[in-house]
Amino acid sequence: MPPEPPASHQSLVDQALDALAAVVRAFGRHGFDLDTDRQADLERDCEAHARRVLLGPSRGDEAQSRFGDTRRFVEARRKAEKAFVERQVERLRGATSELLIGIRSMVHGERSTGKEVEAHVASLEAALQTGRLDVLAGAVKGAVGGIRTVMARREAGFQSELSRLGEHVASLRADLDTTRKDAETDALTQVYNRRAFDRLLEQQTVLEEAVRDGLLLISLDLDHFKKLNDTLGHAAGDAALRGVADTLVRAFPRRDDHVARVGGEEFAVVVRGVDPSGRDRLVERLLKGVRELAVPWEGCAIRVTCSVGTALWSPGEDPQRLMRRADAALYVAKSSGRDRVVHG
Ligand code: GH3
Ligand code: MG
Ligand code: MG
Repeated sequence: MPPEPPASHQSLVDQALDALAAVVRAFGRHGFDLDTDRQADLERDCEAHARRVLLGPSRGDEAQSRFGDTRRFVEARRKAEKAFVERQVERLRGATSELLIGIRSMVHGERSTGKEVEAHVASLEAALQTGRLDVLAGAVKGAVGGIRTVMARREAGFQSELSRLGEHVASLRADLDTTRKDAETDALTQVYNRRAFDRLLEQQTVLEEAVRDGLLLISLDLDHFKKLNDTLGHAAGDAALRGVADTLVRAFPRRDDHVARVGGEEFAVVVRGVDPSGRDRLVERLLKGVRELAVPWEGCAIRVTCSVGTALWSPGEDPQRLMRRADAALYVAKSSGRDRVVHG
């Protein structure tokens, strides 16, 4: 191939102008927004400079230099870009420092978590000191993963602490229930005690005032119990009391039935939803149950009878009066021969 003829001076100048215009256009196209200057404006200005480089100043604008302005323009823009990037890096460092302070205060005082997080924070600080964004980016990535793992473990720790506390509260509540039940229960027979019975009777009369479905109070006293104690001993008497309590509980099994031991060998029962005809049946069943009771004792059976007085609540009656009426009926049952019921 024949060697290319040497380029003419004019053609070299044209090539140089083309190249310069292309560089100025590329500078505009690949610029970026600064705080106040938009990239689109830069591109437009670069285009104006490229045209001036190629065509010379436009008409009426001959005072402008063909190249000098472009050089100053590019220099000023590049300086502004450098200052902008330095400011951005400074801001990023400031934000990262604040982040580190925040992370430290979050885990302050936590022994194991605090130590691990502190190690991540220290590596971030070291990266920050280098002033290199690539190093900082790598350190942030590593620290975020590490701190996330530590926090997940901390969360799991909180959860298990929470469930441990929950179990503790549940066991305290169970203890409280047991204590409350103990306070209401007669230790020998496991039915309600006198204190619980007084409270129950009070509640039931208030309820009956509103519901009016028939509230029956049964007062029961074992017959000649002293004699039983004297002949078979106190322990035999206790066994008989337990047997009678069990019989009463079996005779009155509903939720609204309440059996209590209200004195040494005295019991009381509150029953709801009873009318006079139902009352007779209920109490006869009770008497029969006690008569048939045979408490095993040293190879033989203890037998007992009881006397019973009842009172059906009448409108406006308070618990004390209701109790007095039942007791008065019981007194009549005793004095008229025992092992019987008298309705008050
Ligand atoms: P009545 O038919 O008139 O009711 O005669 P009673 O002997 O049943 O009545 P009294 O009031 O004379 O005697 C009651 C006896 O109950 C006296 C007491 O020793 C006995 N007692 C009271 N509490 C207990 C107890 O917890 N266990 C035992 N084994 N006996 C008790
Ligand atoms: Mg008595
Ligand atoms: Mg008695």
